[in-house]
Amino acid sequence: MSSAVPASPVTIALLGGGTVGSAVARLLVDHAADLEERVGARVVLTGVAVRDAGRSRPGVPADLVTTDAAALAASGADIVVELMGGIEPARTLLLSAIAAGSSVVTANKALLAADGASLYEAAGRHGVDLYFEAAVAGAIPLLRPLRESLSGDQVTKVLGIVNGTTNFILTKMDEEGADYAEVLAEAQALGFAEADPTADVEGHDAAAKAAILAELAFHTRVTLDDVHCEGISQVTAEDIRAAQDMGFVIKLLAVAERTADGVIVRVHPTMLPRSHPLASVRGAFNAVFIEAESAGEVMFYGHGAGGVPTASAVMGDLVTAARNRVSGGRGPGESTYSNLPVLPVGAALTRYYVNLSVADKPGVLASIASAFSDNGVSIQVVRQDGHGDEAGLIVRTHRATDAALAKTVERLSRLDTVRQVLGVMRVEGEAGE
Ligand code: NAP
Repeated sequence: MSSAVPASPVTIALLGGGTVGSAVARLLVDHAADLEERVGARVVLTGVAVRDAGRSRPGVPADLVTTDAAALAASGADIVVELMGGIEPARTLLLSAIAAGSSVVTANKALLAADGASLYEAAGRHGVDLYFEAAVAGAIPLLRPLRESLSGDQVTKVLGIVNGTTNFILTKMDEEGADYAEVLAEAQALGFAEADPTADVEGHDAAAKAAILAELAFHTRVTLDDVHCEGISQVTAEDIRAAQDMGFVIKLLAVAERTADGVIVRVHPTMLPRSHPLASVRGAFNAVFIEAESAGEVMFYGHGAGGVPTASAVMGDLVTAARNRVSGGRGPGESTYSNLPVLPVGAALTRYYVNLSVADKPGVLASIASAFSDNGVSIQVVRQDGHGDEAGLIVRTHRATDAALAKTVERLSRLDTVRQVLGVMRVEGEAGE
């Protein structure tokens, strides 16, 4: 302990004592002495709100457990940490905490992506902090670097693997050549996918995180509704094999980019060259690759979920907010001054992979080539596979708009020479992009 007069304790109210909340409660108790040194005051847990007070919660002091979340939220603790999840009652509780003068820390990506604006507005009005490092990519320090370390730069693009479940599934499909359904069942058995995996596999979870990243990167308000979202449930073992043959790997990417006309935010399965740094992110790990005008390329990597890793990010926010309480300072508020237009995905410029089942007869290639060129999509590479009834054609394009590619695919699917459009996927991360 330092010899200076000790500051009064910093009080912490915890809303939620589940996977992440119980890990935070335990770290607060286990590391109390270190936290006191780091903050410059004792850090004292005053309550843990849950639904079921009877449940056993190792690491959570039993005498602090309450089912009265509303009273705890409005108790005027220095910091209210929300780890319940969902939009309501989390939003109402956080607004009442802010109104009572508490700084707030949350990991709630769903709430932030749907209505972060009302939390920021209230925090600004009441002069308190709002931190949410754990809401995107769990343990990985990412939002503070975006909000602070890169705040003097111009971020141009963010590419992220921000959902561990889908990365686990795609990695297994890549390594074992297995089908999506088979690997999903295995992921569920191992606890890497929920019983209802929709939010993960259809990209909704990644889309909420993409909205949060885009807002911080481009100083422009972005909500979940602004994010174009496609999941991985349509990715086939055939797509994975075709990617491998071309030296690519398939990842579910969250992509946020600034173009000359505005901001585009999208989540979809993407082919990446195996040489790209994100291609080597395997299993349930997360990573985010940022391109900025002055910094160039920067990458963040680590555990994107799990109670204890996520609690690390929550604790970092908690220490920062506690230090601000002790010093009388404040962290950054909302920054949406750029107010750039958020453009539809049709405006996005990317390369594509198109996999076609075609009739094996003369003139096929010419009719297909004109479907591309008539819509302004230029072909980079064509690979022909098989023969007779099994003829297949894989086309990789140069950069084109999503809208032009959609028209091309529509035309291809009407050609007599094309039996079926088997797969269409965006390609990112090639040199020269
Ligand atoms: P969880 O295990 O389901 O825990 C939720 C906790 O909140 C439980 O203790 C629950 O009480 C309590 N709770 C829920 N509704 C309540 C209500 N109306 N009143 C009082 N208490 C209520 O969730 P989690 O996995 O810890 O996730 C918490 C937050 O962290 C979510 O926003 C999530 O998106 C985010 N997050 C989680 C992870 C992760 O790996 N788990 C990673 C990054 C971010 P009972 O225990 O009595 O049910």
